[in-house]
Amino acid sequence: MFHRVTDTFFDVSLLVKRKTFEECMQYIARRCPVISLDFLVQNFDRWESVPHNSYVVTFDDGWIDFYDTAYPVLSRLKIPATVYLTTGFASLKCSYWQERLDNLLAQIFAEKRTLLTKDNIISIPEINLKLKYLILNSGGAEVTFKFIDYLKEFTHDKILKTITDLEVFQERHSIKVDNNKERSFVSWDELNHIKDPNISFGSHTVNHMILTNEQTDVVKEEISKSKEIIEKETERSVIHFCYPNGNNNDGIKEIVAKSYKSACTTKGGFVSKDSDIYSLNRIGINEEMVTDWRGNFSKYVFIYSIFIESLKA
Ligand SMILES: [Zn+2]
Repeated sequence: MFHRVTDTFFDVSLLVKRKTFEECMQYIARRCPVISLDFLVQNFDRWESVPHNSYVVTFDDGWIDFYDTAYPVLSRLKIPATVYLTTGFASLKCSYWQERLDNLLAQIFAEKRTLLTKDNIISIPEINLKLKYLILNSGGAEVTFKFIDYLKEFTHDKILKTITDLEVFQERHSIKVDNNKERSFVSWDELNHIKDPNISFGSHTVNHMILTNEQTDVVKEEISKSKEIIEKETERSVIHFCYPNGNNNDGIKEIVAKSYKSACTTKGGFVSKDSDIYSLNRIGINEEMVTDWRGNFSKYVFIYSIFIESLKA
């Protein structure tokens, strides 16, 4: 499981650098069978057809760097991959709230005093209290990550309301807004330029909501609408799903099973013939997990990390 292939991003746990990615893919392509998710799913009931120790490569969210950095490498090495698209990101209808929040908090920290003295900056009292507590008790980036983790317990509506409240505060105190931002996500046009049959598109919902926090009608809409949109925009059929943040339960899996043939989580571990096809484990790869102390790709660090992650199943 990859997220971003780029040299800088606020959340380094989601990042693999360009050079590292290329070396990692070269290593995998040379050493192991890499199969497509389609192949895996088609052969799930005939497990003997699945090559031993094979890899499936996936990308979450649909970041722009999948298109301009990862895809050329995959294509050259003939590595199949599945990209899980959040349709609202590709359509520029919503953004990755964690990134938005990181940007906001970085700017708001400069006005920490004002924030601490004002009441009710965030209209949901418990969230307001939590942010103040974190600012008083943690430093810098730690506040952002702890606050993100805390917000993941709330419905998507409440998360977005929190961000809007912080934006209002930011505007009112004319804190500098960094508008010079490049586009983060791949567009439908770019996706339609991908002709390589080895690349498939899966769904990662419309709004990247944590589905276990939402009502059933919202869950149903996120699961079905995203498939519909990708199929309409790309004229490809979509049969694979990926739960945002990995969160799922039996009810959600049942809804997914009605229109998809597989679903991935973010839980570590290998996939075997006994795996639940609607709750497939994946091993998330980031820069730290595959590089040595000099920052170079190391097959030893890679193998070690894969082994450690496989134990999480
Ligand atoms: Zn995601």
